[in-house]
Amino acid sequence: MLVLDEELATCEAQLATLQGSARLAPLVNVIWHLRQRDPARAQRLAHEAAPLAAALPDAERAPLEARLALVRAEAVWLAGDLDGARALAAAVLHSFEQHADWTGCADGNWLRAWIDVDAGNLADSDTAITLAADYARRAGCVVRVDICDAAAALFAVFRDVHAAELRWGQRFDRNAPGVHSAARGWIDDYLGISAFQASDFGRAISLMMGSFETALATGQVRRAVNLATNIGNGFTSLNAHNAALEWMQRGLDLARPGGWPMSEGLALMQTAETLRQLGQRDAAQQLLHEALAALAPLASSRAYAVALEYQGDLAIDCGDYAAALDSFARLEVRGQALCQADFHCAARRGQADALSRLGRPQEALAMAESSLALAHEHRDAYNHIAALRVLAEIHARHALPVPAPRDAPNAALHYLQQVLTVAATIDGYTVPAALLDAVAREYAGAGDYAAAYQASMRAGAARETTHGTEATNRAIAMRVQYQTERAQAEGEHHRQLAAAEARRAEALQQISATLEHLSAIGQEITTHLDAAAVFRALDRHVHGLLDAIHFSVFLIDADGVAMRCAFGIEAGKPLPPICVALSDPNANSARCVRERREIMVDADPQACAPFLIPGTEPTLSQLFAPLQVGDRVLGAMTVQSRQRNAYGERDRLIFRTLCAYGAIALDNANAYRQVAATLRALSATQDQLLEKNLELEQAYQALEEVSLTDQLTGLRNRRFFLQHVDADVAMSLRRHDEPLRQAERDAASDKDLVFFMVDLDHFKEVNDRHGHAGGDAVLVQMQERLREVFRESDYLIRWGGEEFLVLARATNRDDAKAVAERIRLAVADREFVLPDGSRLSKTCSIGFACFPFLPSQPRLLSWSEVVELADQGLYLAKRSGRNAWAAVYGTDSTCGEGLFPRLMQHLDQALADGEVTLVTSLQHPVLPAGPKKRRLGLAAGQVTS
Ligand code: GH3
Ligand code: MG
Ligand code: MG
Repeated sequence: MLVLDEELATCEAQLATLQGSARLAPLVNVIWHLRQRDPARAQRLAHEAAPLAAALPDAERAPLEARLALVRAEAVWLAGDLDGARALAAAVLHSFEQHADWTGCADGNWLRAWIDVDAGNLADSDTAITLAADYARRAGCVVRVDICDAAAALFAVFRDVHAAELRWGQRFDRNAPGVHSAARGWIDDYLGISAFQASDFGRAISLMMGSFETALATGQVRRAVNLATNIGNGFTSLNAHNAALEWMQRGLDLARPGGWPMSEGLALMQTAETLRQLGQRDAAQQLLHEALAALAPLASSRAYAVALEYQGDLAIDCGDYAAALDSFARLEVRGQALCQADFHCAARRGQADALSRLGRPQEALAMAESSLALAHEHRDAYNHIAALRVLAEIHARHALPVPAPRDAPNAALHYLQQVLTVAATIDGYTVPAALLDAVAREYAGAGDYAAAYQASMRAGAARETTHGTEATNRAIAMRVQYQTERAQAEGEHHRQLAAAEARRAEALQQISATLEHLSAIGQEITTHLDAAAVFRALDRHVHGLLDAIHFSVFLIDADGVAMRCAFGIEAGKPLPPICVALSDPNANSARCVRERREIMVDADPQACAPFLIPGTEPTLSQLFAPLQVGDRVLGAMTVQSRQRNAYGERDRLIFRTLCAYGAIALDNANAYRQVAATLRALSATQDQLLEKNLELEQAYQALEEVSLTDQLTGLRNRRFFLQHVDADVAMSLRRHDEPLRQAERDAASDKDLVFFMVDLDHFKEVNDRHGHAGGDAVLVQMQERLREVFRESDYLIRWGGEEFLVLARATNRDDAKAVAERIRLAVADREFVLPDGSRLSKTCSIGFACFPFLPSQPRLLSWSEVVELADQGLYLAKRSGRNAWAAVYGTDSTCGEGLFPRLMQHLDQALADGEVTLVTSLQHPVLPAGPKKRRLGLAAGQVTS
């Protein structure tokens, strides 16, 4: 609700380090506390806050906007627009209630209470202040509860000082530890007003002076004006006019810049009253006139009623008794409306005085006696004196038929003596000279010249005290000043404004230069991404800006139990490694982290240091601050000096700001280090993974290779063949499809595929006679011989057992016979060597077929059908005596229709019909007797990958 100037400075420094939406909440806080300190600046900052708030979700935005609206409502109230302020406050309260912001509800009701005070709706203001206290309790804000209760007590005092004492007398203990100074200010205000109403002006003044200082230090400018004028009023009541005027001046100086009608009106009218008492009637008249004009919109307020009383008294001094009677009659009405007893007393006393002077003694007497009774009832010594004086004057002026008093020569003296008795009960009260003059006059009239002389001497002394040259001079000076001010109103006012503005601008300039410098430092510090660089930058700036023999940074360990000195330099030398337990009751660094607050130590050079880090020297000033990022405390930072009181408010602001930047930078560096380490670990893992992937890839390739290779001979296997054959078939078909000219077609001789099926003859015998190893050796050598015959690019497949399929690629069908013969000879012409060294002659049989079967109709037979025909050729060679080759070729008369089954079942017929021709090394081929069984299990296009 209220903060001290230095707390606000901290908030502002913090705000300067924030960017973007993070600024909003602290910004609104600053605006709130500037609301009376510097309303124009608060308004400017509110313009900055509005767009920031607009970007927030409703739940976060609404309370901040309500708070800003409350600042506006308060400005409207201060400007004297009570209806406008009330409407705004109601809307704000509604919003606070909706969002369960109980603190906001307390502050909203607080404002409502004061609006109602100014409007003279005292019952409503009581209700509002009670609500404010209730909400403050609900929000758990002790300071607000104290302040609201103190204000409620203060309101009660004006109604009835004794009832207020009964209700609130035991509530406050202003000396209790933990009472916030702002709350103590309000408690003192209440106690001060109580003392004032009880005519204990000395005590009232001393309490209100303390309250005035607090009000100023917590930005309560309006309350400060009020207190200054009340203090002045207190001095006036004691007839200490010089002091009174000093305080009035203070009030006026504070009230003028704001232009708030209530503050200005109060200051002007109290000054007017003091001037009246000093006999400066014209000046008093002018000021009072101005005061009443300022207070016009607040005609229902207590202040306006007080102005009416002053107006009545001034009218009597000026001899305008009818006007005085009118003023006091109006005061009576206002007093009744406000239910404030002091006004009843004053109104009746004033009317009595006016009536007496207007020659209406009976009415005057009745009024004066009723005033006296009221003052007596309320133990209001001041009004008691006033009523007794009027009674004395009535009796002095009019010969009224009353029984002669026993204690005095006449009725007038009877009352005057009572006045002196009551006056003696008021501490510090100077009996007015005019009163003593009246006493002297009455004694002289009664023939007691000794008493008259004495009273006359006292009157002279009193006049000296109250109207001394100092006060009179001051009054004249004020009057001159006031007249000059009026004469040069605009010019002077503007000059003052300009001067004040210039002072403020200079102060702002200084602050903003410091902040700008710090902001540049902040940018520098926060660009570093490693802690060591951050420490070096901090060290450099700490020494550039502060008086520090020692600078160190402590960071909390990962386990959160201790702090370690991460960086420390003392007198140019690095500190030894230091570890401080966070629970250490003696270490200021630990305490500052535990309590999350700045600690300043100004040591007594005589006292021994309670906690000295080993290896460091005792210093006389030490400043510790937590390194905090949001809610997290990273550690603490300290600067120390050999000087006493080395760190003032500006140094602390700088240190605090460096801490804020340092914390952000170290937090960034830490996050960067962690991310970098994670990245390094990740990258190492990735390298390993890549290596493994490569190995896997190689293993996979090896596996693939193995799966496509026959392990005994190293030739390709059936799987390999099936994976590749389609591609070759497609290629061959494409080349046959190409629309080439005839000449080129003839030249393109390498577009056929020839499938050779090779089988060793009587291989079983090898196993039978030479064992399985012997068979294996023959198979391996068979591989070598096939490689000799075929090209590298041809596919050599171990088709099964001792049977081989060779796919001769990109070849010419006319060359196939020669190749078949070369195979036959490669086996038959050379002996095989067995493992025991013995030699063995073997032969083989070969069948082959070409793809496409018919070049004129490339798609007539599928490759698998062609392989079947090659197998048929092999079968024919075996049947016809082995060690031979055979193949079936298409002819010009080959008929496509049902060709393949015909060739399988009735090859002899097809040969006889000339539909196909037999190409063979055999002299006497023996044709198969019946249909050839399909043996290979190959379906057309059957490919696996
Ligand atoms: P034909 O002239 O009619 O082809 O007679 P063959 O004995 O060669 O034919 P058959 O199909 O009756 O016998 C083939 C033999 O080949 C049977 C089997 O023992 C042998 N064989 C198959 N695979 C292997 C092998 O990997 N190693 C060895 N050593 N022998 C094998
Ligand atoms: Mg065989
Ligand atoms: Mg065989």
